[in-house]
Amino acid sequence: MHEVGIANAILEAVRLESARYATARPRRVSVRIGELAAVDPDSLRFCFEALIQDTELSDLELEIEFCPRRQRCPTCGAEFTVVDYDFRCARCGEEKTDFVSGDQLELASLEMEEYEPSTA
Ligand SMILES: [Zn+2]
Repeated sequence: MHEVGIANAILEAVRLESARYATARPRRVSVRIGELAAVDPDSLRFCFEALIQDTELSDLELEIEFCPRRQRCPTCGAEFTVVDYDFRCARCGEEKTDFVSGDQLELASLEMEEYEPSTA
């Protein structure tokens, strides 16, 4: 269950970032998860929801962007998404292609929302 650790790291980053704003609070956080990062999006979401419950971040939204594995062909230069573990070049059929991306695990963006100025 390393999703708990990841959810914690996301929240830590959100808290750190939002501490820089006095009049705004975090509204939505987006993360990119590569196919090879071995993170289960559902379980990450579950952990995230559990962690923010009854905290000041309880209405923070989590957006997960899933990034499939991508390969590049050294022969024709094509870049393509791997489907069903088929690493052959989609354009020329080359069998030995190079890994490009798909192991990312990163914060993509954080949306802040301004507080309503209290004029009471
Ligand atoms: Zn090719």
